[in-house]
Amino acid sequence: MGVHAEPMEVVERVLQILQHGSTASTYKYAVLLALIDVCVERADAHGMPPTSVTTLQLAERVVELYWGQTRTWPDPKRSLLAQNTQRGRSIVLMVDELRAELEGRAGRSVRPSQARLLDRSGWERLVREVEWRLIEMPLPKLQRLGGELHEWLYVLAWNDTTQRPKRGEITAYQRGQASTFDNQVRLIDGVAEALTQMHALLRPFVQQQWARTVASLNDLPESQLQTFLFGSQRIALEPVRQPLTELQEGKCFYCNRPLDAETHVDHFLPWARFGEDGLANLVAADHGCNGDKSDYLPAHTLLEKWCHRNRGNRSRMAAIATKLAWPFGEDRSFGIARAAYQRLPGGSLLWSGRKRLVPFEREAVLRALA
Ligand SMILES: [Zn+2]
Repeated sequence: MGVHAEPMEVVERVLQILQHGSTASTYKYAVLLALIDVCVERADAHGMPPTSVTTLQLAERVVELYWGQTRTWPDPKRSLLAQNTQRGRSIVLMVDELRAELEGRAGRSVRPSQARLLDRSGWERLVREVEWRLIEMPLPKLQRLGGELHEWLYVLAWNDTTQRPKRGEITAYQRGQASTFDNQVRLIDGVAEALTQMHALLRPFVQQQWARTVASLNDLPESQLQTFLFGSQRIALEPVRQPLTELQEGKCFYCNRPLDAETHVDHFLPWARFGEDGLANLVAADHGCNGDKSDYLPAHTLLEKWCHRNRGNRSRMAAIATKLAWPFGEDRSFGIARAAYQRLPGGSLLWSGRKRLVPFEREAVLRALA
């Protein structure tokens, strides 16, 4: 404590937490990914991650992570994939209830980012229920290795043995009344910085471990699971395709060639790395650019264009977002962009168009993001 943790040290701690202990549930993966994601997207104007996050922010992200995973697995004999071995009402079941209800009502697939807009009170109820579960179990348990608590990543004001939070206090806190419950997850010095810097390495690794656990819990081959659990479900992006194409005057965002029937909705900041779905992070692209860009970060010329697109069309984009009940997510996207680019080592290669990679230019990127 009080010692600044170096990035490789934090990576080693995360590996130990992942490798240690029970694989009877996937909650630890969800909490770790949520921690990484919240650190990345909450970067301040200088790209600095937060020193603490709240149980509410983590709960919201955990709901988003499980959301698509509750859809019917391609095998019709299985519906909801098991994510833990305990009996009782699991987080997955809670998420599935709201997702199924909203999708039934809408008659199409609904992304988690939209659910918040479609049914605010249902969404808030779900997040509170998941938050309660995180407070009781995964958060205090995550850093318990071999029966001993190692505060390697964060410090909580409560634990799961001698200092359990009182139920009444959690209820009061969740209702916004006076409460002694402290919802801060205080990050150990250096941890948020390391998670932000190492996210491109840690995120796919945690996902792989998660897929492996789901495979073993459900007796399924791991190979297809990764895509099912963490893919972006292209079909669900369909509603924004036409409005984005119009906004870009029928041209590919990346190469300006006219778009045709095979127009894709692309995540400007790659989905696999950041999982951000707001309209601000989506562009219309042709098949060739979409495929070639893959999971690369775009180069500064494209970043400038993207910043300009979002800032210059703010009211038009806000109108599209409102009409489709789709989140705009401008702040979140810019937060992620700042964290991602400002932590990038010199010499990194960025995608600047089909078959073109260029070295990262810090000054040009900072100018674009200013
Ligand atoms: Zn193109």
